[in-house]
Amino acid sequence: MQILDGKATAKQARDEIAVEVASLKNSGKEVSLAVILVGNDPASATYVGAKEKACEAVGIRSVVHRLNENVSQSELLALINVLNLDAGIDGILVQLPLPKHIDEDVITQAIAAEKDVDGFGAASVGRLWSGLASFVPCTPLGVMYLLEKYSIELTGLNAVVLGRSNIVGKPMAALLLAANATVTIAHSHTKNLKQICQNADIIVVAIGRANFLSADMVKDGAIIIDVGINRLENGKLTGDVAYDEVAKKTSYITPVPGGVGPMTIAMLLKNTLAAAKARGKR
Ligand code: NAP
Repeated sequence: MQILDGKATAKQARDEIAVEVASLKNSGKEVSLAVILVGNDPASATYVGAKEKACEAVGIRSVVHRLNENVSQSELLALINVLNLDAGIDGILVQLPLPKHIDEDVITQAIAAEKDVDGFGAASVGRLWSGLASFVPCTPLGVMYLLEKYSIELTGLNAVVLGRSNIVGKPMAALLLAANATVTIAHSHTKNLKQICQNADIIVVAIGRANFLSADMVKDGAIIIDVGINRLENGKLTGDVAYDEVAKKTSYITPVPGGVGPMTIAMLLKNTLAAAKARGKR
């Protein structure tokens, strides 16, 4: 069994990004990310703080707009419009979730396609499923980056994606399909989940339930990618995989923490750099 070390791989990715950002800066081109945070949700504030720090560490300028919980949808749309038109901004990210009075879909779809570094916009999603170059949501992109760095060949593998969210499950399935895996997407209505998983060469678990994937669901030698982040009552973070019992049966496995999590922010930086380059900052 080999552990897929997301922490080390993310650092390597960030180092490579920093070199490219510095070389753009030397030619007078600054890479910039605008982040919008609405309200006072502590988890969202922590994520935005981590994104700000990560940008700073690689030399990307981040501009965080912190808006009051009561901001109206039209005010938020107006800000996005300003950022869409701002030639100095390469990428735009709206931290989710948004307060209930704001329609997340309307906001997500308002971000200009060429600045959609989270890859949630319809143009990005359509391009991804059509096999065209596109922004890819950061978490599944991070999973693919990790698999590639460990030279894991996916062609012909039976892949199961557990979870069908727009942020993780669906784009993950699109990427595995593009890498020539045979993909099954499972969700809360799936029947015979155990048998489906037992037949999988690779399982990506993204459902948000601690220790959900147990050893009896996994075949010997499987590759297990744990996207889940769950906080236990004792404050400890754990994934969706019952790590201790499952790890013994696997060929490769990601730990939590230190697996997929660190890859996500690194891929946001990668997408922001790609946005800047695509906008002519070469
Ligand atoms: P989500 O939007 O809540 O989606 C959960 C998915 O899991 C849904 O598709 C749901 O099915 C499915 N599901 C729930 N219970 C199930 C069951 N018993 N059997 C099969 N499928 C089941 O979650 P998400 O945003 O994709 O996030 C999933 C997990 O990944 C969470 O723990 C989240 O914190 C974590 N996450 C981590 C990162 C990272 O950077 N590592 C990034 C994003 C998310 P239905 O569609 O039928 O309801």
